Amino acid sequence: MAKPLDEYKRKRDFTRSPEPAGDADAAKKTRKDKPRFFCVQKHLASHLHYDLRLEHEGVLMSWAVPKGPSLDPKTKRLAMHVEDHPVEYGTFEGVIPEGYGAGIVMLWDQGTWEPESADVDQALAKGDLKFKLDGYKLKGSWVLVRTAGYGGGDRAKSKSWLLIKHRDDWSGDVDITEFAPLSVKSNQDLHEILAEDNPDVWRTNRPVEGGETGAMLREIIQKAAALKAGREKAIGQGKAVAHRPKAGGKTFASKKAADGSIQMLEESHEAKGRASRAVARKARGGGAPRRAKKR
Ligand code: MN
Repeated sequence: MAKPLDEYKRKRDFTRSPEPAGDADAAKKTRKDKPRFFCVQKHLASHLHYDLRLEHEGVLMSWAVPKGPSLDPKTKRLAMHVEDHPVEYGTFEGVIPEGYGAGIVMLWDQGTWEPESADVDQALAKGDLKFKLDGYKLKGSWVLVRTAGYGGGDRAKSKSWLLIKHRDDWSGDVDITEFAPLSVKSNQDLHEILAEDNPDVWRTNRPVEGGETGAMLREIIQKAAALKAGREKAIGQGKAVAHRPKAGGKTFASKKAADGSIQMLEESHEAKGRASRAVARKARGGGAPRRAKKR
């Protein structure tokens, strides 16, 4: 049987990458009896996606969700099962300057999780893992279900899963990725993380060079700029809110953001325990439920 983190390590050159090598056995011991950690890292690499990571047996089981999680139980989101990551990776935010996964990583949500399936390994083998999240943005009951994937191959070997929200107090029709796009760690957007002078990063010894990597980073910078422009446009059209206080924390970047509901996401310790459902309700003006936007 493969050792934990084998695939993660095989894909990376730790003399060049700022990412941690990780030690699953050590983590298993030190994390024993601690609540299970989960996070979602928004990752602008060759494509924008959201990495859902659930701590289990000293590693972070990981799924890449291209469109990000949806709070709407009717919206099933493709979640590609990827290699386990070290536990230390889970609070990382910053820039991976080169190599595998090069790009910008934002800690989009974090918290704890609990399996609702009695035996996690059995549930994974079966391809049906039910669990509860307690993050800042994501809460309540969810399920990951393995599917046959494209081409309808062997379901048991498939990397394709679906991430689905169960209907509960924390489900709703607000587009959480649009509504709460910023970091729960730094309150920054991707381009700001990129621009940060002293990011909380595992720094590489090597500066970014020209060639393929340089070109890729230039493309990412352009994407970050385009994302920012897109979000500002959406705010102008009233489709999204910028829940970011100016210095002092009392004024907000947009009119809609000033309605007070946003402060719950701002002050994250407050957000914990109330979070997305209340925000969602306020965001749609407390009125009748609105259908989720079809894409
Ligand atoms: Mn990723």
